Amino acid sequence: MNKTPLISLLLLALCSCAQLVHAADLFKQDASVSHQDILRGSLTPERTWWDLKHYHLDINVDPITRSIHGTNTMTYKVLSEEKRMQIELQAPMVLEKVMQNGQELNVTQDGYSYFIEFEKEQKIAQEYKIVMHFGGQPQVAEKPPWDGGITWKEDNNGLPFIASACQGIGASIWWPNKDHPYDEPDSGVLMSVEVPEHLMDVSNGRLIKVEAHPERKTKTYHWQVTNPINNYGVNINIGDYVHFGEKYQGEQGLLDMDYYVLRDNLTKAKAQFKDATRTMEALEHWFGPYPFYQDSFKLVEAPYLGMEHQSSVTYGNGYKNGYLGRDRSSTGWGLKFDFIIIHESGHEWFANSITDKDLADMWIHESFTTYSESLFVEYFYGKAAGAEYVRGMRLGIQNDSNIIGVYGAHREGSSDMYNKGSNMLHTIRQVVDNDQKWREILRGLGETFYHQTVETKQVEDYMSEQSGKDLSKIFDQYLRDTRVPMLEYFIKDKELRYRWGNSVKGFNMPVKVEINGKAQWLSAKTSWTKLALESAKPSFEVDANFYISALNILGK
Ligand SMILES: [Zn+2]
Repeated sequence: MNKTPLISLLLLALCSCAQLVHAADLFKQDASVSHQDILRGSLTPERTWWDLKHYHLDINVDPITRSIHGTNTMTYKVLSEEKRMQIELQAPMVLEKVMQNGQELNVTQDGYSYFIEFEKEQKIAQEYKIVMHFGGQPQVAEKPPWDGGITWKEDNNGLPFIASACQGIGASIWWPNKDHPYDEPDSGVLMSVEVPEHLMDVSNGRLIKVEAHPERKTKTYHWQVTNPINNYGVNINIGDYVHFGEKYQGEQGLLDMDYYVLRDNLTKAKAQFKDATRTMEALEHWFGPYPFYQDSFKLVEAPYLGMEHQSSVTYGNGYKNGYLGRDRSSTGWGLKFDFIIIHESGHEWFANSITDKDLADMWIHESFTTYSESLFVEYFYGKAAGAEYVRGMRLGIQNDSNIIGVYGAHREGSSDMYNKGSNMLHTIRQVVDNDQKWREILRGLGETFYHQTVETKQVEDYMSEQSGKDLSKIFDQYLRDTRVPMLEYFIKDKELRYRWGNSVKGFNMPVKVEINGKAQWLSAKTSWTKLALESAKPSFEVDANFYISALNILGK
């Protein structure tokens, strides 16, 4: 790490979680969309005729051979006339066979998409199961969580320390499933993970049973999630874990908060994980009840930075405040909390409860969650501190490409979904100009879209409706355009003239300014508007909380 060039350190400091490096890589590639991208990213007829209900992932993880073998029993409901069924599993993992009622089904392969044909009629409104047998040595994650797959490491005592991380690349990198975000298993996932008997697996939800197999010197840990879960949230973490926990009195009663850390890190974790209940307190205030009381909340130590794995948020921030000890905002506020605990837990509301229906709308995950960091700061250190923090995040904005990605192609947009997206939300808060209303909107999103997969339009429309202000041009400007809007103005003959430049057609965001120290709203449009002034040469300043630029076109 000490040999890392300064520029890399700077870039790393400006990154938040999983998607930044990955997104940057995507834009180096040819923007054309491949056949596999379409199979992977679109709602094909082979996907839409059935509704995913449940997975039972039953696997053995062998640290010696670095392999995973087992089955995924998938329950689904038939919605319309049966077609072939599409699922994904990425090489080098192999789909060995697919069974239904004891009969092996015919399977054809197209890239890493598989198409299953049925022997028996699939009747509309009925539920069925298939059992997918699979195995192999899954892709090793080179740089998790950005370069996903399985991480095989050892702890300080030489014991295996293993974890999955697959945001972006997708859960099909290690197990077969319906690998598209629009459809989540309505009644959750049961995970049965067999590991060497001296190790423990920690997965999502609650531990319901541990079975010992003395003849094989293994144990199987059964973890159950009862709520819908996004595919990339399903995870395994295997190591020499110790547990501690607490109960948190939250908005929906007592929440079980459990922590699993490597044996040697227990003391450090007991001090550092105090930020977990602080997160819960701040984010329940702003976003409403934690969305998974039934499945509990966990922090689980992982051999990489961290990830928003639902109800088992993984942690690898080195028991330091900030982002690996650094302040991404450069304001000092970023060192008041453990970035990974707050950011990845914030995703329980935006990513896990409210999930994008298409990867192109991933701003719904990252913009709100990055924004949640400033809400955490505001809750504990005051409104000015929160605003300073989110403005500090502007250092990382690229304005390189649109925040909204390519639909139907498993293609996310610019990494600006983090820093610029959070500043868009902070700017919208200024426009709403009513803190109580703003909090109601944030909490209303959590309630209205609870446990749903959504499109950007639903979120945008909801925010416009609830605020009573048409925010559509603001969303267009910041999500569908790279330009930072510019307030052009000049003062002449005791008159201010102003308009929006560098903006989308019809951009009409009201903006707050100070003229001679007096706060005033300007209803700016893309054509000139006049305002009579009391003095000939007043001072003029734009409210810093708007992420815009301003230009006196005649100069000072
Ligand atoms: Zn994130």
